[in-house]
Amino acid sequence: MITIKSEREVELLRKAGNIVYKTHQYIKPFIKEGITTKELDSLAEKFIRENEATPSFKGYEGFPSALCISINDEVVHGFPSDRVLNNGDIVTLDIGACYKGYHGDSAWTYKVGEIDAEKAYLMEHTKKSLFIGLEQVKPGNKIGDIGYAIESYAKEHNLGVVKELCGHGVGTDVHEDPEVPNYGVANTGPRLKVGMVIAIEPMLTLGSPEIYMESNDWTVVTEDHSPSAHYEHTVVVTQDGYEILTGE
Ligand code: MG
Ligand code: MG
Repeated sequence: MITIKSEREVELLRKAGNIVYKTHQYIKPFIKEGITTKELDSLAEKFIRENEATPSFKGYEGFPSALCISINDEVVHGFPSDRVLNNGDIVTLDIGACYKGYHGDSAWTYKVGEIDAEKAYLMEHTKKSLFIGLEQVKPGNKIGDIGYAIESYAKEHNLGVVKELCGHGVGTDVHEDPEVPNYGVANTGPRLKVGMVIAIEPMLTLGSPEIYMESNDWTVVTEDHSPSAHYEHTVVVTQDGYEILTGE
C-alpha cells in the first residue's frame, strides 16, 4: 500500500533525513586509506545515536551493522569488517536513520585517495543518473518515468543497471511501497502524488550488470567484478516537484 504522508509526518521524515545527511558529512573525512569499514560503522552509529536516532539497518531482517559499506565490485549490503580501505578504492556508505519512528535512507559512493579515470566516470554518471531520475518526480508523473530516465541515461553512458535491486517508499518502515526500479517504461506504474515519500537509488556498473550473492546471504557483488556505484536520496513529492529530505 502506498501511503500519503501528512505534514507532521513529512516534518519527522525531514528530521530523520537530515540526520542521515549529517552522518554522511560527519563520516566523509574519515574515508581514507588505512581505516577499516568496521571503524567507519562504529563512528557513524555513535553519531546517529547522539542525534537521538537509531540506525535503521541494524537488526533489519538480521543485518548485523549500522551501515552497509560496499567496496568496488560490491554493489550493496557489504558487512562492515576488519577490511581496510586502500588507495584507489571506491566505497559506498548506505546510511539509514530512524527518528521518532520515521526513517531516512541515503547512499553515497566515495573515493579513497586517488582513483582511476574509469571509476571516476562511473561515479560521476551514477550520481548524475540519480538527479536525472529525480527530475521526473512531480505530481502526475508515474514511477515508470523515473526508471525509464535512469536507464536511458545509463545506456547513453555505457553503464549497466543492476535490475535486481530498486528504490522504495519510505515512512514508518524503511522499505515501503511502491518499488522504484531503475529501469522501466515511461508512463507506467503508480502515479506520483503530493505527500508520497520515496527513495531513488540507481546502482550502476562499469561492466556487466549481472550480480551474485555472497555466502553471507546479504552482500551483492558484480559477476565480472567490475566496480559499481550507488547514489540515493529520500524525497517527498511536492506541488512543484520534489524536496530532498536527506539533504541539508
Ligand atoms: Mg539506502
Ligand atoms: Mg534504500
